[in-house]
Amino acid sequence: MRVLVTGGAGFIGSHLCERLVREGHDVLCLDNFFTGRKENIDHLLDSHRFELIRHDVIEPILLEVDRIYSLACPASPVHYQYNPVKTIKTSVMGTINMLGLAKRVKARILQASTSEVYGDPLVHPQPEDYWGNVNPIGLRSCYDEGKRVAETLMMDYHRQNSVDIRIIRIFNTYGPRMALNDGRVVSNFIVQALRNEDITVYGDGSQTRSFCYVDDLVEGMTRLMNCDGITGPMNVGNPAETSILEFATRIIDLTGSSSKVVFKPLPADDPKQRQPDITLAKKTLDWQPETDVDTGLKKTIEYFSRILACKA
Ligand code: NAD
Ligand code: UDP
Repeated sequence: MRVLVTGGAGFIGSHLCERLVREGHDVLCLDNFFTGRKENIDHLLDSHRFELIRHDVIEPILLEVDRIYSLACPASPVHYQYNPVKTIKTSVMGTINMLGLAKRVKARILQASTSEVYGDPLVHPQPEDYWGNVNPIGLRSCYDEGKRVAETLMMDYHRQNSVDIRIIRIFNTYGPRMALNDGRVVSNFIVQALRNEDITVYGDGSQTRSFCYVDDLVEGMTRLMNCDGITGPMNVGNPAETSILEFATRIIDLTGSSSKVVFKPLPADDPKQRQPDITLAKKTLDWQPETDVDTGLKKTIEYFSRILACKA
């Protein structure tokens, strides 16, 4: 199949492109390189099955494809808040452009949505039928509301134009190829620990997240894309929940670091708890995460050690 991956040079997108090339698909990787990097896809450039397009999804594009994975959008709070207007344009105009393309060429399209559609959740763990608790005017809204509109657009193109859609709600995902300056907790803590610098816990560290290794996420994502007769939204994530303070301690232990934990102010609207209810993914896709957090973290630590050694 001819498969378009927008945001394909980013963290998750590059793993997805690699997997699709390995499966024998012709992969078009489209990216504007805002947070993506050529290093992430360097190893795929020699394959005749892989093609790279520098393009911004807020502009329309004419392509002939069978499948579209719509991932283009900065995911780290630091990056999506850098230019919030551009972030919401990416989710709204970018999704309209990709849905227009899907409609024209009758391609199946999967939209990368997020656990952020649940905001600071009042229901725990979060099932797909929970409507969420999102601040519409806060610093995270450009991302959260952008993704909520993207979901609305997907459903409306489906109902109005019979576009074949899939919506995946991705929970915190980590692994090799996260950017060093990404600002998300996994990369921050690992890099700080490897440099024996202070580990910056925001707030008192009692807020929770549930971390999924990238290979598990990509497995769930491709299963959802290939599953017939279902639109989603579907949660894909690892229900193993941890407080951010426990997470810091775990990374210090795994790296053997001499770093100390320091506490910094909690960013506005930072969700207090997050854990996916993955009953639907288990039942429909026969999917559940296979990588325990220590195994995934060790692989990620190895990756960052290599990157830091190259920079030294
Ligand atoms: P990332 O920032 O590494 O990747 C995003 C990619 O999109 C980058 O390559 C970036 O250059 C590209 N991009 C951004 N704006 C673009 C635009 N206007 N036009 C073309 N390309 C553009 O982030 P990621 O972690 O790989 O996330 C990928 C997708 O998954 C995003 O849609 C994100 O919202 C979603 N998601 C990720 C997580 C996570 O924990 N990683 C959680 C929930 C949802
Ligand atoms: N966080 C932290 N220190 C950091 C970066 C993040 O304590 O250096 C916290 C952040 O406040 C949040 C959690 O870790 O509570 C996850 O943050 P991240 O930005 O990775 O993802 P998100 O908040 O979007 O889930």
